[in-house]
Amino acid sequence: MSVIQVIQERQARLVAWRHELHAHPELGFQEHRTADLVANVLTNAGIEIHRGLAETGVVGVLRVGQGSAAIGLRADMDALPLRELNTFPYRSRIDGQMHACGHDGHTAMLLGAAEYLAETRQFDGTVYLIFQPAEETVGGARVMLEEGLLDRFPMDRVYGMHNWPGLPAGQFAVHAGPVMACADQFDILIQGHGAHAAMPHQGRDPVLAGAALVQTLQSVVSRDTDPLDSVVLSITRFAAGEAYNIIPDEVRLGGTVRAFKAELRDQAEAAIERVCNGIGLAHGVRIRLDYRRGYPPSINDPVEAATCSQVARELVGEANVHTDLPPSMGAEDFAYFLNERPGCYVWIGNGLDQGGCMLHNARYDFNDAILPLGSSYWVSLVESVLPARQAK
Ligand SMILES: [Zn+2]
Ligand SMILES: [Zn+2]
Repeated sequence: MSVIQVIQERQARLVAWRHELHAHPELGFQEHRTADLVANVLTNAGIEIHRGLAETGVVGVLRVGQGSAAIGLRADMDALPLRELNTFPYRSRIDGQMHACGHDGHTAMLLGAAEYLAETRQFDGTVYLIFQPAEETVGGARVMLEEGLLDRFPMDRVYGMHNWPGLPAGQFAVHAGPVMACADQFDILIQGHGAHAAMPHQGRDPVLAGAALVQTLQSVVSRDTDPLDSVVLSITRFAAGEAYNIIPDEVRLGGTVRAFKAELRDQAEAAIERVCNGIGLAHGVRIRLDYRRGYPPSINDPVEAATCSQVARELVGEANVHTDLPPSMGAEDFAYFLNERPGCYVWIGNGLDQGGCMLHNARYDFNDAILPLGSSYWVSLVESVLPARQAK
């Protein structure tokens, strides 16, 4: 029997873990119950575990044979601060928290692969099973690295996988290069001088300056950026006064910048600063920019991407592996791993209908039908990258 046939027979087991995790979603660095479940499954499978990296992280170590090659497989475990609108029996039991990004499914798929690999041991080398907290918030990946993940578990390559709504179930997308963007955030404080709304000349209006700023900041993309590059700048917050007859003292703006290249975020930050200074002078107000770097862009290694797409093709056939889909302007903290080691982060289709609505939606659900496929992908990747020695 093929890997996928064997794992398909265990689907009920994968689904049970997934529903248990879905019903008990936990936010970043609070994944205690989730980490307990992960640790129990790994321990019962005879896998050595290490807990406590980045608070709730769990790393399983599976060593087979004498081979010195080592790879990391990563699943994220955290949920989102969102009130679930689904009504199925395994819906969230925790008000205001929800697995709306499918990390419950990611965790279950890697657990399924871990069990299978521990049983069959058809590879030679070391597999580190990385169960990571806090992908959605401050970058649990970065914290695990800062706390010595790669020193304690030296790996040559690292791999990730995310479900992708809108991509049919049974399909994969693999990008040889950028797959997810960087995500920076900024806050802008405009300090004017409040006045009676009927006598604006007696103050300095920060609302008008803010409106001008929102408009002019769009020139950062349209006039500072090479048209062949991709940058998006969105202003998502605009907080001004509260009364109809008072021009307020201050206005606060906030937003995000996304790009695939490091130099573009440097360029965007400098351009925003320049626009803020210029609009400040033009309107006679003080404008202060606080620009903060978030997740870097996720860039797949082309060689690793070729390996991963070959593994996927062997599972689902040539026609079901896309290597030409555009990357996403969303961001992913797997980027921190890719900055340290060559690797590849693939998308697995979550389907068009069931669970087909986009990530971070209150009606989203991970598609249970793809659990065996995701587990099989992990197993096939391990067996392909760390091939078992031929018996003499
Ligand atoms: Zn997410
Ligand atoms: Zn996610």
